[in-house]
Amino acid sequence: MPSPDSITITVNKDECSGCGVCATEAPDTFEMNDDDQAEVKNPVGDDMEAIMAAAEGCPSECISIVDKSSGTQIYPEA
Ligand code: SF4
Repeated sequence: MPSPDSITITVNKDECSGCGVCATEAPDTFEMNDDDQAEVKNPVGDDMEAIMAAAEGCPSECISIVDKSSGTQIYPEA
């Protein structure tokens, strides 16, 4: 599994329901903004397990994780 400093995390805000699951699973990586939408506050804030748990736990599937060096999409799996 890659490390947090080798990935890019993106939140598709158009799809974000504001449920807060990601900020619970990886609280040092994601935060909720004033519009109740998730933002990446620190892409290396949590370990990879927590970041993956956030992405996998997102009910709207709006968190994507891409390997920076290869450009391979890690989540959601293609
Ligand atoms: S888990 Fe997904 S839908 Fe819920 S706040 Fe985070 S990004 Fe938005």
